[in-house]
Amino acid sequence: PASRFTVFRVETLTRTASPCPTITHVKRNDIRNVAIIAHVDHGKTTLVDGMLRQSRIFRENQQVAERVMDSNALERERGITIMAKNTAVMYRGVKINIVDTPGHADFGEVERIMNMVDGVLLLVDAVDGPMPQTKFVLRQALRRGHRAILVVNKIDRPQARPNHVLNETFDLFLDLGATEEQAEFPTLYTNAILGTASADHRHIGTTLEPLFDAIIDRIPGPDVDPEAPAQLLVTTTTYDDYIGRIAVGRLQSGTLHKGQAVARIDHQGGLTPAKVTQLFTFNGLAREEVDEAAAGDIVAVAGVEAGIGDTIADAADPRPLPPIRVEEPTLRMTFSVNNSPFAGREGKFVTSRKLRERLYAELERDVALRVADSDSADTLVVSGRGELHLAILIETMRREGYEFQVSRPEVILKEVDGETQEPYEQLEIEVAQEELGAVVELAGRRRGTLKDMKYRDDGMVHAVYRIPTRGLLGLRQAFLTATRGRGVMNTLIEGYGPLAGAIATRELGSLIAFEDGTTTTFGLNAAQDRGQLFLNPGIEVYEGMVVGQHIRERDLEVNVVRKKHLTNMRSSNSDIAAKLDGIRELSLDDAVEFLADDELLEVTPKAYRIRKRLLTKQDRDRAIGQMKRAAGVAS
Ligand code: GDP
Repeated sequence: PASRFTVFRVETLTRTASPCPTITHVKRNDIRNVAIIAHVDHGKTTLVDGMLRQSRIFRENQQVAERVMDSNALERERGITIMAKNTAVMYRGVKINIVDTPGHADFGEVERIMNMVDGVLLLVDAVDGPMPQTKFVLRQALRRGHRAILVVNKIDRPQARPNHVLNETFDLFLDLGATEEQAEFPTLYTNAILGTASADHRHIGTTLEPLFDAIIDRIPGPDVDPEAPAQLLVTTTTYDDYIGRIAVGRLQSGTLHKGQAVARIDHQGGLTPAKVTQLFTFNGLAREEVDEAAAGDIVAVAGVEAGIGDTIADAADPRPLPPIRVEEPTLRMTFSVNNSPFAGREGKFVTSRKLRERLYAELERDVALRVADSDSADTLVVSGRGELHLAILIETMRREGYEFQVSRPEVILKEVDGETQEPYEQLEIEVAQEELGAVVELAGRRRGTLKDMKYRDDGMVHAVYRIPTRGLLGLRQAFLTATRGRGVMNTLIEGYGPLAGAIATRELGSLIAFEDGTTTTFGLNAAQDRGQLFLNPGIEVYEGMVVGQHIRERDLEVNVVRKKHLTNMRSSNSDIAAKLDGIRELSLDDAVEFLADDELLEVTPKAYRIRKRLLTKQDRDRAIGQMKRAAGVAS
């Protein structure tokens, strides 16, 4: 035993004696960088406001905060954060940088944010528990090895079920592959409105101090090298009318000071010399100008035209940080100038120049997006991470006043070792047991393979599939029909795999307006026997516009603008309206899902309209004839 002991000693000695002398890692104890993960409405804004207010009381500061991380209208509708924001609070001499996280799988930003922090606050509602949208973000945090603090908010709600929410979150951690250490997360119960936190849900506290303490005790300070040359990985950029481009990221090593000569290192390793004209750190809601910033802090730098993923480094010894791997786009669609008969009526920005400028500008902020020109000057090809990613871009542009047309999305194939592969996603569904059969059939037809299925006590079934992204196009609507609107589905990109074989996604044809005019109850009433209508009476349509879904495979022209003979004028409107059952008004997502290859979606600030690419029946018939002849020649 004695000799074994000696050997062990020697090993230990050689190991401790060998570290590279130039690296002097230090754990900073006066800073904590945390990301906050929350579903919209679970109380993030209220909680951060409360932290800010109380940290000011601790510092005897003046102003009460306005709402910090407030979400915009689109974020509320979608239930996810789209743009990240920074806030910093001081607590007992420790600076806590709180970084907001975008809540969706399709944004490469999540990965960059996880690089910038050392832990996360997972905020969940005491009734709802963790929501599927926050899952992806949490998974990224756990993968990065971060510790989490669970904050169960709205503990005052009468239906609050803290134990249930805690168990559910624990299961989620295990599902996401948390390590034992990560699964032992501390839990705090809060009432964000009152600004109270407690480790025990039966005894509500009086302040948020237990939360502050948990952040400081359980989340490590940044591990940095203060002596090394300055290195900062740009995580986000913003623009200020006076200052110009501002790059934000965590200073990984060294110090930065105002006026310092730096180098911008881009993805290809190219160096551009620059000078730091202004330097900021975060304080409360504001950027605060400083002369110098030290490693570990989150810093905003002006004067360097750096993009997301670039490194800002000391000019004397420029060393790039490992570039952040950004996931490849999986889906693409075209964005083109609106050339429908209604073009230019509803949008503020309608030209191809405006469209191009806007799309290329988006690349600055969104590194997961790709924009490319096509053979036509009026059409750009936009690629992103899934339907939601592209839908958010479309919706944002529409709200800004843009008018354009988009095509049916198509998956991006990839050559891997000489084999063509396609993207796959994880599909999670929750349905009532009696509806399971229909859903299993649906997923099967779209080449989904079942990975996991759990029957729950409440009569619901939770199932996980692996399914080609191709099979997801148009799935949502079919899924909702199969579950009578009650099923829940969520998807997560998994990666590429071998081609899955043919999938018929769009099984039914379109009902197409036969002439220009305004829809009438009379016309719609006659057309509704042919399928599912999308429009109410009184809507202006044009020849070739899609007004519904046919009950058969092929398209059908219908006359929805037909007027009733005057002799019948007396029958009341409500009488006729009652006969128009089940008009399905399409949301943007529905419309994008519905699109066939020979259709486009017209997007304007006022409307979405689906149209045939070829507006007249004659043109469409001729195109079909040509296709058939070409096929005939080929065979
Ligand atoms: P965010 O979307 O996550 O930023 O959520 P908000 O902070 O805007 O909060 C959403 C709603 O929940 C608001 O009406 C808040 O007043 C309310 N809320 C936030 N925290 C609590 C809480 O602890 N208890 C109760 N009862 N309501 C809360």
